Amino acid sequence: MEYSDIADDLTSVLVTEKEIHEKIAELSRRIEADYAGENLLLVGVLRGAVMLMADLARELKLPIEMDWMAVSSYGSGTKSSGVVRILKDLDSDLQGRKVLIVEDIIDSGLTLSWLRTNLENRGAASVEICALLRKPDAAKVQVDVRYIGFEIPNAFVVGYGLDYAEKYRNFRDIGVLAPHVYA
Ligand code: 5GP
Repeated sequence: MEYSDIADDLTSVLVTEKEIHEKIAELSRRIEADYAGENLLLVGVLRGAVMLMADLARELKLPIEMDWMAVSSYGSGTKSSGVVRILKDLDSDLQGRKVLIVEDIIDSGLTLSWLRTNLENRGAASVEICALLRKPDAAKVQVDVRYIGFEIPNAFVVGYGLDYAEKYRNFRDIGVLAPHVYA
């Protein structure tokens, strides 16, 4: 889906498809340098990270494996509480593995900080994070994110895997959802 297909539902486009792909290439070169000779496991967080995972995995000139987790954070409304429930767990054994969590967006950071600790406790050799977007609120929780795509303002964004009520995931760019859509 392109901008012209949903222009009325957006207030602006924050990051274009072209910018996303250039950034993924840049991050991939860093990941390749950091994990040269390693058997890297990419852990995608469903469902928002599906697009990033697919593009990142194909851009990487490294042998990688992919696995998936689905989590839900309990909280009121749109704010996460830090209490996380696993909806779908990994199939892989993490003992001794180098793990890179692939996430769409970090807002409060509570979900990721919980996830990282959870994966570290399974005996992974290392657990790092790659996130495409980060909002300013993320600074409130100490999450050490090694690979970050874009710092964005505190707005509700959709596209490139990110949804509102399961819609807009297939929008190619990332845009700010217009208030009239959820008002
Ligand atoms: P955190 O625990 O960092 O507050 O929660 C992060 C999760 O909240 C993301 O994985 C994503 O599912 C959701 N989220 C946070 N901000 C946005 C946003 O602007 N748009 C969408 N679609 N989801 C968001």
